Amino acid sequence: ARFNFNPGPAALPKSVLETAQKEFTNYDSTHMSVLELSHRSKSYEDIHFEAVKRLRSLLDIPEQYEVLFLQGGASQQFAMVPMNFLNSEQSASYIVSGSWSEKALKEAKSIGQAEIYASTKDTNYTKIPDVHSIQNINEKTAYVHLTSNNTIYGTQWRDFPETDTTPLIADMSSDILSRRFDVRSFSLFYAGAQKNLGPSGVTVVVADRQFLEKSRKDIPTIFSYQTHVEKHSLYHTPPTFSIYMLNLVLKWVEEQGGIDAIESLNKQKAEKLYDAIDHSNNFYKGHAEVASRSAMNVTFTLENKELEELFLQEAEEAGFSGLKGHRSVGGLRASLYNAVPLEAVNALCSFMDDFRHRHQ
Ligand code: PLP
Repeated sequence: ARFNFNPGPAALPKSVLETAQKEFTNYDSTHMSVLELSHRSKSYEDIHFEAVKRLRSLLDIPEQYEVLFLQGGASQQFAMVPMNFLNSEQSASYIVSGSWSEKALKEAKSIGQAEIYASTKDTNYTKIPDVHSIQNINEKTAYVHLTSNNTIYGTQWRDFPETDTTPLIADMSSDILSRRFDVRSFSLFYAGAQKNLGPSGVTVVVADRQFLEKSRKDIPTIFSYQTHVEKHSLYHTPPTFSIYMLNLVLKWVEEQGGIDAIESLNKQKAEKLYDAIDHSNNFYKGHAEVASRSAMNVTFTLENKELEELFLQEAEEAGFSGLKGHRSVGGLRASLYNAVPLEAVNALCSFMDDFRHRHQ
């Protein structure tokens, strides 16, 4: 396919893939592939710490925050967060804005007490819950958890809620590195890499050191954040090749002009596609409410299933892949992560106009 709109694993920058290909059998004159390097070698450690440094600088991560590269995906974080921060005297609060938040909540319930702070399930998650500030909640609340971008439903927080002293934790798997935000608003955030950061296999966790100090000590070593902090994510063998790819992606983001340039391009891409939906005489119908629309995942439906099937088939033939919507929403979904060029969105909009004129 010429145009990759997959929801994840998602498109990677072409130049990154080409660099990886070029270096594949002989990395930096080592006559070895990165796959073959010891994680204790200088060559690998240089990659590892360069990636940390790049992420710190791109996201403007303050000194008092730790950056970790873990395994197990965002799903493992659903469990690690309560394992580390929820004890038997406390309760955790979850803002539920889609299936991934539901899964995070379910894992917390398996560890301790957890409740729903706000939810938009009753609208089939067409919008982000109306939460602007989190103040004076129960002092027994260990943390509040939210999902910054709902990959399946195509909704995204515009402004994160303000908090007083309650720690805020976010799953940023599907919009990390797509826009600027204040890291200090969060005690911890995490993201599986396979959308904006690189290949699957590595999960980025960023956390306030003071918050990390509160973590429980009575949990298995491998699931304790402190273990990984102390060993700089080298406690055990890290996903070395994924981290190498992450480093190349971060370098690519720098070359694009950093987060601000990426954010402005992402805005342009999303506006273009939502415009095509909004000016289609209701032929294409957006799933998300306008104020909650995601710039990363654009979800829409057509009149009926047959027409959606035909759309997918014709789109595939025209070189567009990954447009099938998630089964819980149906319809279509175009994921516009960082590596999807404006050219791909323009081509999709032309295809959508053409399809509409033939089938309306
Ligand atoms: N959270 C969000 C928002 C996601 O989009 C996904 C995957 O698509 C996950 C969590 C699960 O991530 P993983 O497959 O890395 O466990």
